[in-house]
Amino acid sequence: MSTEPKIAQSEPGMLHPELLAEEDRDAIYRGGKRLDHAEGSSKPLRPSPEKQPRGAKIRGNRPVDQAEAAARFIAAPEHEKMHDERLWDLRQKRDQEMEHIPEWEELRSLASAIKEHTLTHLDEYLEQFEVNARANGVHVHWARDAAEHNQIVHGILRDHGAKSLIKSKSMLTEECGFRHYMSSVGIEVIETDLGERIQQLDHEDPSHVVVPAVHKLRTDVADVFAKTIGTDPNNSDVHYLAEAQREATRPLILAADAGMTGCNFAVAETGSVVVCTNEGNADLSANVPKLHIASIGIEKTIPRLEHLAVFVRLLSRSALGSPITQYTSHFRGPRKGGEMHMVLVDNGRSARLGLEEFWTSLKCIRCGACMNTCPVYRRSGGLSYGATYSGPIGLIIDPTFNARKYSNLPFASTLNGSCTNVCPVKINIHEQIYAWRRELVKRHEVPLAKKAAMKAAGELLSRPVAYRAAIAAADVALAHLPRFVIYNGLNAWGKGREVPNPPKQTFHSWHRANRGEKS
Ligand code: SF4
Repeated sequence: MSTEPKIAQSEPGMLHPELLAEEDRDAIYRGGKRLDHAEGSSKPLRPSPEKQPRGAKIRGNRPVDQAEAAARFIAAPEHEKMHDERLWDLRQKRDQEMEHIPEWEELRSLASAIKEHTLTHLDEYLEQFEVNARANGVHVHWARDAAEHNQIVHGILRDHGAKSLIKSKSMLTEECGFRHYMSSVGIEVIETDLGERIQQLDHEDPSHVVVPAVHKLRTDVADVFAKTIGTDPNNSDVHYLAEAQREATRPLILAADAGMTGCNFAVAETGSVVVCTNEGNADLSANVPKLHIASIGIEKTIPRLEHLAVFVRLLSRSALGSPITQYTSHFRGPRKGGEMHMVLVDNGRSARLGLEEFWTSLKCIRCGACMNTCPVYRRSGGLSYGATYSGPIGLIIDPTFNARKYSNLPFASTLNGSCTNVCPVKINIHEQIYAWRRELVKRHEVPLAKKAAMKAAGELLSRPVAYRAAIAAADVALAHLPRFVIYNGLNAWGKGREVPNPPKQTFHSWHRANRGEKS
């Protein structure tokens, strides 16, 4: 008989209370805490659930208004609370895993060094990768940009008369607008990752690099599946929903003409690609159809197989707080009687490699740890960024694609440095965010009002006498002005919170009075 204690709700690191069942004999426990595998037995949500907030409005090349979309997400309290708690739970699990590895910091330094070495010798390792992949019987293609990637894949499919393609999760294909392109040429793409499939059926982009539908409540998923695959709209049990999706998708997988995977690591010495998943869906995509296409960002290269161990130990622990992904699959060549193609994609990476302040962003292994820890991301949802990459890593990658369109993003950060602290490959994320702010000002991509406000703040902060006079005047004003004057449209701080009560005495005046310091 289990001696594990029943758990109280709202313990730190626990599931959102709505997911907890009162009586659950099948629940899995670790260290006295229930794991989220048991969500299937959880209580149904209330009958009229909160509507899911949608992402940022995209208007051509105009700057994405992340703050506006974030405000809508925050205005949906069930979503915001669940999202915040769910991601913080991942962050806490990451910390627990990290504490079990005494050499964690050495691993991070090693991973960073391997990546930096590879990136500074990228031409050599890519050539080595190509030679070895060809020797394994793989067709290797090079794509300069997203359009070329899509055309190459389309050409391969056309040559094989393929009309349907199953694919596993790949941020690179999101970057390339791949699904959209394939639909324009009449090829059906079926996502095999559950979260990605949910997003595909809901016509949304992934909101997180690891957990694409993490911003959705179970009731949102029930709603999507009811409309697309005919499930019961009132049943939001996750086992029921997952099983229904499995039943609906399996026949499509078995009948698909071609399969596609992304790539977590491309090993130069073996010419093989490594894909890490928790659902085994990459293996389905690669092995069920006879034609396998792997899309590879050129920065995914690592020199040798032995280096993989460093990254595999870091990846899943950083991403989900689990020791390893369920599947770490190596694809070296075509299956018997089949054909394998690899498409090596640049799409701006070479140019980023030449950016002195930003090239180390190419070290990213897409673990999502920086997103899970970011207070802005956790409370605003990934779709509020209106870009392929969201959260802290998105703030430094997205402007390299389009500085105007993503000019607001580097300002969606508190610069607290938590992202840098958790990054398994030691990218100085918060420093790069700050560097992007300076860069955008230089490029005149910051609104005039913001520039003027920053200039005025800079002037004030650099003159101690003026600064103290302004603080004293503000304290008097806050103490005496009527509320409607303080909480007006210009007071962004006061939109969601109370302005702090002014202190009776500032620290500076106290110090001068009590310690006799001359100002
Ligand atoms: S920047 Fe670092 S923490 Fe963020 S996704 Fe990339 S590897 Fe992970």
